[in-house]
Amino acid sequence: MNICIFLGAGASAAENLPIQNELFSSYFKHNLPKHPNSPMNLKLRDFFKEVFNIDVLNDNIDEINFPTFEEVLGILDMADQRQESFKNFGTDTYNINNGSIGLLRQYLILLTANAINKASKESNKYHELLLKNLRKSNQLLNTTFISVNYDIHIDNTISKLYDKKKMRVMLDYGVDFTNFDYKSSSWKKPVGETIKLYKIHGSLNWLYCPVCSSITLTPYEGGVMRILNNQKEAKCLNCKEYTVPIIVPPTYFKNMSNLYLSTVWNKAEMALRDTDLIVFCGYSFPEADIHIKYMLKRVQTSRNNKSLKIMVVNNHENKLESALKKEEMRYKRFLGNDVIFTKASFQEFAKNPSKYIDLSFKDSNYIDK
Ligand SMILES: [Zn+2]
Repeated sequence: MNICIFLGAGASAAENLPIQNELFSSYFKHNLPKHPNSPMNLKLRDFFKEVFNIDVLNDNIDEINFPTFEEVLGILDMADQRQESFKNFGTDTYNINNGSIGLLRQYLILLTANAINKASKESNKYHELLLKNLRKSNQLLNTTFISVNYDIHIDNTISKLYDKKKMRVMLDYGVDFTNFDYKSSSWKKPVGETIKLYKIHGSLNWLYCPVCSSITLTPYEGGVMRILNNQKEAKCLNCKEYTVPIIVPPTYFKNMSNLYLSTVWNKAEMALRDTDLIVFCGYSFPEADIHIKYMLKRVQTSRNNKSLKIMVVNNHENKLESALKKEEMRYKRFLGNDVIFTKASFQEFAKNPSKYIDLSFKDSNYIDK
């Protein structure tokens, strides 16, 4: 039996990562005051003041109702796509007083990376528990992970499994990194038994080189932070040019044309076609993820007589019953009434995944816990 575990922001939140709508407040409260006049921070301050009338340096951050990351990136992407501008923020650089939208976009991505990276270093407790328990019930090697998160909780947990004697299982991201060409690199091409992890919105440890179109991996480390802190360390392993992050926020207008990302999407789709069960963990099925909905619908409607079970694990402490109900409706209206909507949290699933996996193959389409 093949299983796909689809990891959303809620799975990372279980490891105390800030959720999307806390990213701005977390950055402006803790990071910006340290270097308020760096080029990046000056640009971000101008942008929030001009466009959202928020003074991120002097206002009381706790009382501000920030726009979401998706809203901010969404309007910038749209301006870029339509070749239009916001006052003082243009799509071209003829006027040097005009902040370029492309640059601002990069800064916002680095801001996110910064907020996530800091928290990523803390714990992987529930991800570790999940892998350990899947392994115990012999389900680990049949499991493919698909993640929309940029953080490296699941990555680090999988790559730590490798043991030369006991378990030679390697992490396979589905793309070839420049690292594979260098003997000195600690990251080798996966061979033999592998665990697949497809990160469909990119990753904090991927550095893309737009000059030679290659991708360098920074093992165990959110290497994207080097672009911000020490650009010399963020060079392409191949041609030594400066790299850029592959971090694609879930907006309606995102650009999926990157070669590596489309490879990852393609492999994710193939894995989904071949799976018997998809378990959505910590994923709330947001409106903005139309690309994901499109992929799921295609996969669900061409099954070659193989049935597909879908299970949702997205509860957490203090979640309102009404919110849960809405989420259930959202899943069922799109994927059908057979969706098994549990009341379990990611933590509970991680503690005993086979209980839920086994239940999904029984008749009941509603599991209390
Ligand atoms: Zn290069």
